[in-house]
Amino acid sequence: MTSTLFTNISELVTNSPEIGDESVMGRLYDAALVVEDGVVAWVGPASAAPDCDEISDCHANAVVPGFVDSHTHLVFAGSRADEFAARMAGERYDGGGIARTVADTRAASDEELHETSQQRWWQLRTSGVTTVEVKSGYDLTAAGEARLLRVASDFTTETTFLGAHSVPREFAHDRDAYVAYVAGEMLSASLPYAHWADVFCDRGAFSVDEARHILTAARAAGLGLRLHGNQLADSGGVALAAEMRAASVDHCTHVADHDLEALAASGTVATLLPTAELFTRSPFPDARRFLDAGVTVALATDCNPGTSYVTNAPLVLQLAVTMMNFTVDEALWAFTAGGAAALRRSDIGGLAVGQRAHLLVVNGSRSADLAYRASARPLARVFHETSGIDR
Ligand SMILES: [Zn+2]
Repeated sequence: MTSTLFTNISELVTNSPEIGDESVMGRLYDAALVVEDGVVAWVGPASAAPDCDEISDCHANAVVPGFVDSHTHLVFAGSRADEFAARMAGERYDGGGIARTVADTRAASDEELHETSQQRWWQLRTSGVTTVEVKSGYDLTAAGEARLLRVASDFTTETTFLGAHSVPREFAHDRDAYVAYVAGEMLSASLPYAHWADVFCDRGAFSVDEARHILTAARAAGLGLRLHGNQLADSGGVALAAEMRAASVDHCTHVADHDLEALAASGTVATLLPTAELFTRSPFPDARRFLDAGVTVALATDCNPGTSYVTNAPLVLQLAVTMMNFTVDEALWAFTAGGAAALRRSDIGGLAVGQRAHLLVVNGSRSADLAYRASARPLARVFHETSGIDR
């Protein structure tokens, strides 16, 4: 068993209120941290650090927990750059949207999907994401959705079946048959590779009744529940997530006060996706409403080819602070501990003793530097227990 002492940390954020300044951030200055077998074994002042086998000097930089990106669509093929350019030019453009990515993804080989997904995962990782959730949803056949989840499960255990992402063209005239297919054969084929189920429940997507039907089948099959809700309209998705006690409801761009009360009562996390609002020129939801209502809030990238092609985690923090009224600390908490809560994980999202040693050494002496400086190189190092120091 090798022990490593990370020392000379100017500011350490643990997200554990029992540590340091007793705030929710569990903040310590002039700190050190010991990692043994990939787990945090000791945290305290640098002056009191125990002897270890190895020493890693953090050069008076800040150290924070790795980001937990609890909402991505990383596994896909093709590009929709032309669609983006046309939309930003204000032109009417129907390049196919999700259907186009579905066609490209169906045509891609396993090797191509694997390689491009791994590249995106690597980009996220070097930007500070140490745990990622990955959804299917770009094939929309039973065998194909299972294939996407198999690719995703090569780099994460947080895999989500999203057969109800869109109704494919071959079912355009019989959506009831498609909903039955998702809740039946497609769900069964995906089960060996899926940990969660999700539905795009919104205006123009799946209705509340359709989502309830699919999620009920998924829950009976043993999957955890998450939901895309209220991105495009006050569509009832957030209320459904609270009703079904889903782990998380994501987007929440249009929410009423009663939705917030329901989320606070159910314990369902609201995952906000600032880069999706940026990408689509949509209004940013006001995080203060969620936080003041007692809702647990997470932040994620929503990395996908249509509405948030983002593999830059600090950009999410920066937008959350500048456009959504998060404080810097609240945003950092939401993208670490909040993301862990959205995945119902207690072993990640913080740096208390016993938690996994997923830690980021900031290129700067303060954790606030991550949101404050739009740096091309915001991190000096990313440390992950399975691979050690990445960079
Ligand atoms: Zn999404």
